[in-house]
Amino acid sequence: MYVVILLENPDYKKFDYDKIKKQLSFNLAEKKIIKELNIQPDAFIPVLFSLKFGGDWSFKTKNLAAMAVKEKITRYNGKICEGYTLERVTLFVNPQVISTEGKVLRLEKCGNKNERELVERPFQVKLDAEDIILSELNPETMTIILKRIEGPLSFEGSAAYGVSHEIEHLTGCEHTGKFIWEFKYNLEY
Ligand SMILES: [Zn+2]
Repeated sequence: MYVVILLENPDYKKFDYDKIKKQLSFNLAEKKIIKELNIQPDAFIPVLFSLKFGGDWSFKTKNLAAMAVKEKITRYNGKICEGYTLERVTLFVNPQVISTEGKVLRLEKCGNKNERELVERPFQVKLDAEDIILSELNPETMTIILKRIEGPLSFEGSAAYGVSHEIEHLTGCEHTGKFIWEFKYNLEY
């Protein structure tokens, strides 16, 4: 029925029709893979957001806490001057932090807020979860590989900051930091 309506609408160009057809089949493939993974669909939402809009995402209901943390790995061949940036998204369903190490001061911009804030994050985080799914998006092969993996996992640097940020959203204890306008400019000669 979808298709018939589109074909009857003269405003739709062939490109639009092909695009919508592809999007529909992509959505169907998504549904299929979620079913095959045997994971509750809501738990997969942060992965879909991370793949579609980029960045780290978390999702919370009464009984479910899920977060997706993205790492970017560039593979570059210097001989032919070509490469690609692989995106690795790790999904944690009902995550639990085991340990953290170090303190790193940094400015962060949360999607829910208008300005960047100065926050303190651990340099390393070790965590486990009821379920962990790894998604690897490869721009070269245009594939998204999914696999279930066993915890616990350790993250360092950017990914550790992301984990810490999302865990704050899930546990509801969000820290408010200082803002850029509280910094001082110093001119050096
Ligand atoms: Zn946030």
